[in-house]
Amino acid sequence: MAAAAAVPSFGELGVREELVDACTKLGWKAPTPIQVEALPLALQGRDLIGLAQTGSGKTAAFALPILQALFQQCHPFFACVLSPTRELAIQISEQFEALGSQIGVRSVAIVGGVSMVDQAVALGKNPHIVVATPGRLLDHLTNTKGFSLRNVKYLVLDEADKILHNDFEKEVDEILKVVPRERKTFLFSATMTNKVAKLQRACLRNPTKVEVSSKYTTALTLKQEYVFVPAKHKDCYFVFLLNEMAGSTAMVFTRTCDSTRRLALILRSLGFGAIPISGQMSQSKRSGALLKFKAGDRNLLICTDVASRGLDIPSVDVVINYDIPTNSKDYIHRVGRTARAGRSGRAISIVTQYDVDLYKRIEDLIGMTLPEFPAKADEVLLLEERVSEAQRLAAMHIREKDASKKSKKRRNGDDDEADDGGYMAGKRKQSKKR
Ligand code: AMP
Repeated sequence: MAAAAAVPSFGELGVREELVDACTKLGWKAPTPIQVEALPLALQGRDLIGLAQTGSGKTAAFALPILQALFQQCHPFFACVLSPTRELAIQISEQFEALGSQIGVRSVAIVGGVSMVDQAVALGKNPHIVVATPGRLLDHLTNTKGFSLRNVKYLVLDEADKILHNDFEKEVDEILKVVPRERKTFLFSATMTNKVAKLQRACLRNPTKVEVSSKYTTALTLKQEYVFVPAKHKDCYFVFLLNEMAGSTAMVFTRTCDSTRRLALILRSLGFGAIPISGQMSQSKRSGALLKFKAGDRNLLICTDVASRGLDIPSVDVVINYDIPTNSKDYIHRVGRTARAGRSGRAISIVTQYDVDLYKRIEDLIGMTLPEFPAKADEVLLLEERVSEAQRLAAMHIREKDASKKSKKRRNGDDDEADDGGYMAGKRKQSKKR
């Protein structure tokens, strides 16, 4: 058998010492495959199209060459990165600052749902890197005095398929009109769609394509299973799974914002550390929820697909698909939240009699037939009484909260964890007394 080729080091790929040190500080021992492919070309100044699965280390594949260029020519608004979601933008911005700490790189995330004024102040401080969602960036280009992309030397379109899928096409076109033509462009995407190909033709110059995985694959270190459940006992099976996974850090995906709220209430009333995150919440609550989950204050994040792309939370060891995604490709993004960068992870999908077709489509997409998670009905249904009571409390809470919101016209419409915690604790006491 031929010996496996040795992986070159960051230094051997042309990364300068200060940045190699920063990678070492982050605990990165060797470049990931996308970094091995992309770094030498990007460091030579080529435009790139990167097709890489989420969790592959693609952020550093574009951040390191930009930071290396900043070492030579340091000026404000050096690079602009477009991201499809707010959370991903914040994460990319943090990675730029971590990798560029030696030269004091300043990066800001410019995303919706946060005060324009505060962001204008942050932009006024001349950061080197701006990581933005397209809509909010355009707002600033139109309304924030003195802010422009005139000096941008690098433009990155990250998760371009999602940017275009989210209907940001018009905003991206507007942004492309105001970035200098003399620039380098990196376009990263999990999948190459027709729209991405069109965008590539519009904004890249003689690009090189780097690709590290076939189109729709999940990480080899990911153990994937499904559990077939009767729809009427879905919550019961869900709680059973969580009990089986006790001590794990899990992301639970639902189809709707309302379900994130309902499930988080049910779980909290059963004593789990669950917190919801969805597009219905204000940005400050979304960030707060994510922070609590990342810090380990809560071990279950209940989310919609808002959270399925790009988020990098190394501690996630289980992904549960409470609802099967209607778009099969979302399955890949969801389960990509675990088993990242060579770690192991587990994904379990709850399939009811109504989801069989959707689920089959996922198995076709990933080209695998997955094993069934062992769950004995009689054991699962022992939980029924407790779960029904928790469902009842959650429904009552939602009804009361929505009614009081309507009547008092409360400004803050999101489900506040602090309120719920107190409320549910009170209800639990009451229900124990009964
Ligand atoms: P990304 O695909 O950019 O979201 O990165 C996924 C995860 O891989 C993040 O936690 C990174 O910090 C981590 N990572 C990136 N590059 C490396 C590397 N060379 N070695 C180990 N972990 C890495």
